[in-house]
Amino acid sequence: MNIIERYESEVRSYSRGFPVVFTKAKGAILTDRDGREYIDFFAGAGALNYGHNDEALKQKLIDYIAGDNITHSLDMATEARERFLEAFHDIILEPRGMDYKVMFPGPTGTNCVEAALKLARKVTGRRTIVSFTNAFHGMTLGSLAVTGNAFKRKGAGKALDDTVFMPFDRFMGEGVDTLDHFENMLTCSSSGLDHPAAVIVETVQGEGGINAAGMDWLKRLQSICRAHDIKLIVDDVQAGCGRTGTFFSFEPAGLDPDFICLSKSIGGYGLPMAITLIKPEFDKFAPGEHNGTFRGNNPAFVTATAALETYWRDDKFACSVREKGETIRARLEEMAAAHPELKPEVRGRGFMQGLALHVDGAAEDVSAAAFERGLIMETSGANDEVAKLLPPLILSEDELRRGLDIMADAVAAVAR
Ligand code: PMP
Repeated sequence: MNIIERYESEVRSYSRGFPVVFTKAKGAILTDRDGREYIDFFAGAGALNYGHNDEALKQKLIDYIAGDNITHSLDMATEARERFLEAFHDIILEPRGMDYKVMFPGPTGTNCVEAALKLARKVTGRRTIVSFTNAFHGMTLGSLAVTGNAFKRKGAGKALDDTVFMPFDRFMGEGVDTLDHFENMLTCSSSGLDHPAAVIVETVQGEGGINAAGMDWLKRLQSICRAHDIKLIVDDVQAGCGRTGTFFSFEPAGLDPDFICLSKSIGGYGLPMAITLIKPEFDKFAPGEHNGTFRGNNPAFVTATAALETYWRDDKFACSVREKGETIRARLEEMAAAHPELKPEVRGRGFMQGLALHVDGAAEDVSAAAFERGLIMETSGANDEVAKLLPPLILSEDELRRGLDIMADAVAAVAR
């Protein structure tokens, strides 16, 4: 038994799926203790959009630490925080005509979701939140209450209430309009739906199975929210920071959410960081009303600022993500066409795509076969039915091609 198996609790999951000890990482490549290299199609569950140890980000971090600058500061004002806010305004918000307050709610994705949910309840004075089937928003009690997965919910050991789940996009089936259903629930006086404070939505459900909502569906969802004075929260923790080909995943739908949740890749270097973007009129927390010790992770502000300055000053980077996203699409379509016996279905957008295989255990077998061949990819979906591609956005065309070749080989091996 190795030391990990001996001492770590049963909760570990990724170290079971990828049973080696990793030592180094650069760009899109991870290396294990035996010197074996793996192409990384997992990217820290979407926290490493700019890859491992990006040179520009690393140098800023080294300089910052070498200069005895401030590491931890709760929500005190620091220069690193000030520079991040300036860069986020100049590079992200202003060019998109967006006006938001930026809140630092704590270090992780679940923290920015909790803040948005609490604030939506506070400004409306209502309790009910509408979420969607297959949604994933985090593991603390508020965000777990809006997460659909029964396996994850049951550990709460208490009622997770005040949430109503609606079917996500096409999940009610062909020809059935889920938003007609939602509107009926809102307008019918005996639907049993208490008037909601907010709707929370991922434009592409990551953990729930790479389910991409249609742009028209998202637009209509927003207009229903507006018409009924319901706040719209977009959880862009996984789909944001460029993963789908634009900085915010909802840009192609032209949404104007009341609250936006960002984490994972916002820190740029894999350092914990989260922000909740709040329409100024809803900035209603009193000082200290929602706080947390690790709201001032200055090294993360430094790498977050460097990531914005390096990758988002123009549209070149986003363009390359969209182009490579087309390559991923085409290759997944080929894999699906070659193996109808696996009942395949291509899902997702940009660098957030997947191959759903409607044969029990097939996606997990693809992930295992890919790992044996030097590719790291996870599964997602209610029954782990999706082989999920989440590569770093910076990977080269050659790395992308090699990774997709390995995946195609793994799919063929599972189909045999
Ligand atoms: N929202 C979404 C859409 C996520 O994918 C995740 C994490 N997978 C979270 C929230 C929670 O983030 P964290 O694990 O950092 O708390």
